[in-house]
Amino acid sequence: MTRTFTYQALPMRVQLGVGALTRLPAEVEHLGLQRVLVICAPDQQHTGERVAAALGDRAAGVLAEATMHVPIEIAARARDRAEELGADGCVTVGGGSAVGLGKAIALEFGLPVIAVPTTYAGSEMTPVWGLTEGGRKRTGRDPRVLPRSVIYDPELTVSLPAAMSVTSGINAIAHAVEALYAPDASPIISLMAEEGVRALTDALPRVVADGADLDARADAQYGAWLCGACLGGTTMSLHHKLCHTLGGTLDLPHAQTHTVVLPHALAHNQPAAPDAVAALSRALGGVPDPARALWDRAADLGAPTSLRQLGMAEADIPRIVELATEQPYANPRPVTPAGIEALVRAAWAGEPPH
Ligand code: NAD
Repeated sequence: MTRTFTYQALPMRVQLGVGALTRLPAEVEHLGLQRVLVICAPDQQHTGERVAAALGDRAAGVLAEATMHVPIEIAARARDRAEELGADGCVTVGGGSAVGLGKAIALEFGLPVIAVPTTYAGSEMTPVWGLTEGGRKRTGRDPRVLPRSVIYDPELTVSLPAAMSVTSGINAIAHAVEALYAPDASPIISLMAEEGVRALTDALPRVVADGADLDARADAQYGAWLCGACLGGTTMSLHHKLCHTLGGTLDLPHAQTHTVVLPHALAHNQPAAPDAVAALSRALGGVPDPARALWDRAADLGAPTSLRQLGMAEADIPRIVELATEQPYANPRPVTPAGIEALVRAAWAGEPPH
């Protein structure tokens, strides 16, 4: 068959390496920004203050209010604060929550975002925004929210606890897995996906063994970057749909939910996605069953393996199945209520994927 595909490159500059944060002032200057608002989560305020201090006069202030899923009230306050301070850009320091709040400001005012990621969630590599109002999360794509510049400094991830490093890393792997069988997959993205899974699965055991191992932390960030680019470049399927439903409806924790569900969603899709299975098998060192290998490795790294452990009640299963199957979407294997119920039950109980 003739090779035919579309690949949209996303315009951004990425710097990775120990000490990369020292290049932030030059990056702000390079983008022509005079007064940037530093955004972080409340428990990362000290890091936000440190970054603002390094920016000197070019920092307009620190807003330590980022929380999961960008509640609309917090986004509105952040937009007001950016306006009051006369900010002409934002620097987000933190995980997906901090980037999400920067994106909410960019969506309203078009202010450029520079992202300094401290988890492996990957939001910094995507033009996807999210806002939560009245318990419902809306998401969309807009090129204005794509960060102009990303600075990965492994030193900032040393404080990320082992358990969160593992679940955040597997959250990233999930982006690569679904990119490999996406309806808009391309050979370029598939290269990034395979390499991203390889880099992260190699780095995570080293990160768990020694959280201060900067080589392991840099390798994990490299993997997270590639996996985030996969999320930014393709349309996600069953796994992300299920996790979005579980997180939005039951308020289950984001990265942990991805970690539990991924082997089950992949096992479900594997029979209909032979090229993805081949790529994942290579990335995982030649394993015959990537879903099972991911499940085993997550368990070895001490990750949660059941939705029950995350606080989900068995009685919630039918509602989740109904919500996750009510709208059609692209997926390698047809999405049926019976198939999804079997998947969710196995994930709830912590059974091996089948
Ligand atoms: P997060 O940003 O909420 O961070 C989790 C917790 O870890 C926070 O308390 C944070 O302060 C803390 N933390 C972060 N970095 C740390 C560090 N280095 N050391 C110590 N503590 C640290 O969680 P997340 O998993 O990074 O992001 C999840 C959010 O991002 C969700 O809302 C999700 O929907 C969103 N997301 C969006 C996209 C997108 O493309 N739009 C992609 C991925 C995730």
